[in-house]
Amino acid sequence: MADQHPKYLWWRGEQVRWEDATVHVTDLAWSTVGAVFEGIRGYWNEDQETLFIFRLPEHLARLADSMKVVRLPLAYSLDELQSAIIDLITANESREDTYIRPLAYSSRSSGKRLSAAAAEADLLINTNVMPTHLLTGYTQKARISSWTRISDTVMPPRIKNISNYRNGQLATMEAVQDGYDVAFLLNPQGKVAEASGACVAMIRRGKLITPDVTSGILESITRDALLTIAREDLGIEVEERPVDRTEMYLADEVFTCGTAAEITPVVEVDRYQIGDGETGPVTKALEQKFQAILHGTDPRSEAWCTLVPLRAAVHA
Ligand code: PMP
Repeated sequence: MADQHPKYLWWRGEQVRWEDATVHVTDLAWSTVGAVFEGIRGYWNEDQETLFIFRLPEHLARLADSMKVVRLPLAYSLDELQSAIIDLITANESREDTYIRPLAYSSRSSGKRLSAAAAEADLLINTNVMPTHLLTGYTQKARISSWTRISDTVMPPRIKNISNYRNGQLATMEAVQDGYDVAFLLNPQGKVAEASGACVAMIRRGKLITPDVTSGILESITRDALLTIAREDLGIEVEERPVDRTEMYLADEVFTCGTAAEITPVVEVDRYQIGDGETGPVTKALEQKFQAILHGTDPRSEAWCTLVPLRAAVHA
């Protein structure tokens, strides 16, 4: 169940019972101002009794990149972290679609607001249930936010820096209050950057077009995978370049993508109907292919998924 906590967390180099992973309240203060995190998903394949974790090495490499930019030292190798995650999933018997969230934060930073508090980092890995919404017919309506996406001269947009997320949160709150589901943010150049917490792509005149990685976007692992699938499997031409908001109004299809968003069709932008107002054919084809990859039933699954077999305990 989504509100149930896992039995174990991985914290400071070992598995710890959930109840025992506590910090003193005064440590909360500024400890996360420079924290970075990852969002990783595992998909449950009931037939194979196996959890398929999507692009785990790529997510861990991005965690290392994020830590580097905010000057947090990483005391583990990526192989050690990969093993820690596999062991944690095994210990928690995560036989459902699962979200895995490593969080690195500066330890002993209480009261140190602006000093180089990052001399030491603590690393926490949490898991929780997160069901898929792929191919469920779920769609969203977007508005262009009045908030501007953070730029690389202000904060590092390409990494998963916790403080970045205030930007997307403000944009989401505004969008939802105004009756939309999701916000699209423009960058300081007035070009489309991304959605709050996901990347954005559109289909126009048969091409898949998405803002390039210098448009102020997170270096998204899902976006990268979908561009590969579009090019190599669906034979669609791909353009990574600055994107105008009015191009989106005229697009045949729009969708957001990301670990949490998976592929989410967007059927309106600023009350302009996109295409015929329903999930478009390219989006649907991408969703089908992506669904198969994530659940271990596509030739690409082998390269992109880390398998954690979890046979059900047999009770006599
Ligand atoms: N942009 C932002 C701001 C995000 O938080 C996410 C989700 N991690 C994405 C884009 C999509 O990135 P990914 O595909 O790596 O999850």
